Order: sequence, then C-alpha cells, then structure tokens
Amino acid sequence: MVVGILGGGQLARMLALAGLPLGLRFRCLDPAPDAVAGHVGELVVGAYDDPEALRLLVRGVRLVTFEFENVPAAAADWLQAHARIAPSPTALAIGQDRLREKQLFRSLGMAVPEFRTADSREQLHTAVGEVGLPCVVKTRRLGYDGRGQVRLRAQERPAATIDAAWEALAGPGTGGLIVEQFVDFDRELSVIAARGRDGSIAVYPLVENEHAGGILRRSRAPAPDVPARVVRDADAFVRAALEHLDYTGVLTIELFLRGDTLLANEMAPRVHNSGHWTIEGSVCSQFENHLRAILGLPLGSTAMAGDGVATMVNLIGELPARARLLALAGLHVHAYGKSPRAGRKLGHATVVGHDRAAVDAIAAEVARLPLAAPGDWGFAG
Ligand code: AMP
Repeated sequence: MVVGILGGGQLARMLALAGLPLGLRFRCLDPAPDAVAGHVGELVVGAYDDPEALRLLVRGVRLVTFEFENVPAAAADWLQAHARIAPSPTALAIGQDRLREKQLFRSLGMAVPEFRTADSREQLHTAVGEVGLPCVVKTRRLGYDGRGQVRLRAQERPAATIDAAWEALAGPGTGGLIVEQFVDFDRELSVIAARGRDGSIAVYPLVENEHAGGILRRSRAPAPDVPARVVRDADAFVRAALEHLDYTGVLTIELFLRGDTLLANEMAPRVHNSGHWTIEGSVCSQFENHLRAILGLPLGSTAMAGDGVATMVNLIGELPARARLLALAGLHVHAYGKSPRAGRKLGHATVVGHDRAAVDAIAAEVARLPLAAPGDWGFAG
C-alpha cells in the first residue's frame, strides 16, 4: 500500500522510515527536486497546487497526509475530492492561521497570550497600544522557525519600530498580522498526541523545549520537574482539541508555562520537531503512530521506552564532524541528507537513558564538536 505525503522534507522522510517496516511505501510531492524524502520513497516534483502534480501523487494512492500545515486550500480541496486525506482540511485551515488557533484554544478553555489582529499600519499601531510593550508581532499565516515575527521591546517612542514591523511582515499571503503580549514564560512545553480513526487517543509524555532565534534547539522528555497538575492540564487540553476537531493523526500543541499556568501558543496538525525523540525514546514513535492513526490501525504505546528519559538536540546550519559525533556513546544520529545552510535543520541526535543529568551531558557534547569538513557526510556539503 502506498501512502501519499504532501511535502518531501525530513518529516516526510521520517514518516517513510517509520512506515517501511510496516510494509508501507511512500510517494511525496515537493517542488524541490532534491527533497530528502526522495531518498526513501518516490518523489513527484511539482508545485503543491499544480493539478498535474497532484494527479501523479494520488495515482494508486488511497490515503494522503501532510508534513506541513501551509497547504494551499485549493490543493487540500482537490486532494479531498480524489483521495482520503488526514488530518482534515479543517484542522489544516486552523493550523495555518494563528487567529483561528487562538480562537479554538480559548473555546476549549485554554488561556492564550493577550492578542489583537491588525490588517493595516494604523491598526498595528492601535493593536500594539492595546496589547502593550513588550509584544511580538506575527504574520497570521506562513510563519515558521521564528520567521514572520518581530519582537517589540519596551521603549518610549515605539512608532518607528511599529512601522518597521509593518514593513517587514505585511505582504501577500500573510493573512494580516497578529500582535501578542510577550509572555515572560518560565519554560516552553509541547504536548503531542495521536488520535485514531476509531477515536482512540494516545498522549506522549510532556516535552520541554528550548528555542534560540525562534528555532528549536533541544527537547527533553518527560519534561523535568513539571507539577502533576500541569501535566494533567496539558493532557486534558490536547484531548479536548483532538475531540473537538474529530482529528485523525498526530497533533502537536506548543505551550508556555508561567508559574503553574499553561498558555497555548500554537498547534501543528502533524508530526513535530519536538517529537523526534520518540523514535528511540518512546515505545512507538510519533511517525509510526501518525501512520497507524491515519490508516485506521491500533495506536502504539506512547510510553517512554524502558521507562527512561530522552533528550534531543537539533543539528542546525552545519553538521558536526561525522566520526566525532558517532563516537558519542549512546547517541542516535539522524542526518537528513540536506546540504548545509545557515539556520537550516540538517539533522538531530537523541540520547535515551535513565539518568537525566547523564543523558543531558552526552547531548550537550554535540555542540562542542568540531564542524564537518566538506564531503565528510558524503552528500552535498
Ligand atoms: P512561534 O512561531 O509562535 O512558535 O514562535 C517561535 C518562538 O518564539 C516560540 O517558541 C517562543 O520561544 C517565542 N515566542 C513566540 N511568541 C511568543 C510570545 N508571545 N511571548 C514570548 N515568546 C514568544
């Protein structure tokens, strides 16, 4: 059986790597001829909204899923008319719009950072005035890895900065802007869960995430030292979201923790970088569970493998020297086959064990390694 995936990046690649042992095969659609899922499955090269490319994607395919949420509505509609798709176009539509996400979260009783929308320069000035400084101005759509957002700090005369934010962010396809109160959070968390076609739900242990420059750097699971009530709140919240959306597949919700209070930041209707540790760190990975869910198969256990702990670090911009990386005891290395570029996610590494400090110490070694010489990894760069 062939599963179709819109997008051929590392998430599609890891979905395929998880599905091959289940006897599945994969076909991905991506505009880039060197999309890395093409190393492990069939690749159709074309635009996401090109009907001919979509036709090639779904030929002989009964089920199509997505590695990203910014699917053009026309493509989602076309796919829904020609194949079974999961998650649903509604979940995708909400996941690509920060305003709709916040409205959903609020309707489910979850706190969100104070916010206002702004569709013009004048409205942006008003919105910043109402939300107050410091704040974060974001595009409603098409933001990722810290792109599409500008932080405004507390200052006496913010008018010029607000104008600059408008110039930097407003543009076609962004859906207008949203101004969010800057949350002085203690920690960032994410909750990842799968819901099967039969409505069964499996929630992974809560994850703690650390970002720099808007890009995820390190995830640790289970999130250390989180009060039991917070874990219960996150669990109940993701279940409510899955039920409300009648969702099928893996859903990720990013959260801020301030004191004992959770605030919801955004959701990703897909497998997520903060769940890469599940490949070795849990009994059944987010990738396998996403496939199980969308195929109507029983979900696998989301418990920590061997009742342990896991730490994942991203490999960003440039890879470390390969032999040095592989010499780190217990480190599971995932290089995605992408060529180096500043800020680009090229791979990740996961350590699993029983001692939190020891696991973190090995993961921390990764950042201290020398960078790879050109050609060290055997692919471009
Ligand atoms: P996002 O694209 O919304 O996930 O934002 C990327 C990162 O920017 C988050 O993971 C936070 O580290 C930071 N960030 C985003 N929104 C806020 C906010 N309202 N307050 C504080 N930090 C934020």
